[in-house]
Amino acid sequence: MKRLSVLGSTGSIGRATLDIVRRYPERFSVKGLAAGSNDELMTQQIEEFRPDVVALMDEDSAQRLKIRFRELEVLSGKEGLVRVATLEEVDFVLSAISGASGLVPTYEAVRAGKTIGLANKETLVMAGDLINREARAPIIPVDSEHSALFQCLQGHRAEDVRKLILTASGGPFRGMKKEQLKNVTGEDALRHPTWQMGRKITIDSATLMNKGLEVIEAHHLFGFKPEQIDVVIHHQSIVHSMVEFIDGSLIAQLSLPDMRGPIAYALSYPERLPEVLDRCSLSELGTLSFEEPDMETFSCLRLCYRALRMGGTAPTVVNAADEKAVEGFLEGFIGFNEIPVIIDEILSLHQPKEVQSIEDVLEADRWAREKFDELMEERV
Ligand code: MG
Repeated sequence: MKRLSVLGSTGSIGRATLDIVRRYPERFSVKGLAAGSNDELMTQQIEEFRPDVVALMDEDSAQRLKIRFRELEVLSGKEGLVRVATLEEVDFVLSAISGASGLVPTYEAVRAGKTIGLANKETLVMAGDLINREARAPIIPVDSEHSALFQCLQGHRAEDVRKLILTASGGPFRGMKKEQLKNVTGEDALRHPTWQMGRKITIDSATLMNKGLEVIEAHHLFGFKPEQIDVVIHHQSIVHSMVEFIDGSLIAQLSLPDMRGPIAYALSYPERLPEVLDRCSLSELGTLSFEEPDMETFSCLRLCYRALRMGGTAPTVVNAADEKAVEGFLEGFIGFNEIPVIIDEILSLHQPKEVQSIEDVLEADRWAREKFDELMEERV
């Protein structure tokens, strides 16, 4: 029996994780749940999964839960999330709090020696070197592309790998040029063709920033150089990624796009659970297509390669600047094409520093957010 904490249990990855737990109750039990502010859904999850400890980031929502569940340990704020991430009796932490706020609880879970199922890509983007230095137990990717790479790499030696090839759906604006993207709105960008995800990551898919962050994540997970990591557009989202070997062979992982696949694999690794996904009929799908990414139009991808080569705190800065820029785009005060321009500006102003501690990361994160606000003020 694996004992789990789920960080971000009310989000789409968290809910899919609990769906796996629900289907295989003899294999998994839930000890801790943590989320942002959705106390309604958390109430249902507590009643169904009976955790020992829960935490909500939002104080008022946590207060409402406390009144509903007097017997239960209900915590709030960052300390609450960290407590759920580090519970003694837990051996596996599914980390799915989106954005930079997932970093500290995940980092503390790593330091506590937990096996991590990692869906929060910011953890590795912001603090990859630090996390790798501290990790004593495996970090198993939950992001579909990295799960695919992880699966394709099983049983192979790193020196036999030529390239990791991440696939990207291309998002809702695939094939469009800068001129056509000038006036697109948040609503246009939120219509993702294949995956149902949160707002931030959906916008990141439209700009290809998501893929850039995944390149950085892949570098830290598997230890390959930036020039060994490629991106190919594959809009059907059936091939989740592939590995090219030195002999010229490619190994790919295919399945229908359903996050329960990578989640279940992370939870049960190295075994596989039966009947997790609907079967994938290649003859029904017919055609799978692949094309080069357009890095001129979607220059966020290029920015991520640049930040990865700069090293140190540069990826943290790109990530923070992007979070701010996406917020600004969704609120309607910056245009779609301005997202990479502003991030580029902030990255160019940054002097990357080597990451020695989590404070270095948080400091760079803060710096980038302040820089963003300054640049916005200058514009009005
Ligand atoms: Mg992904």
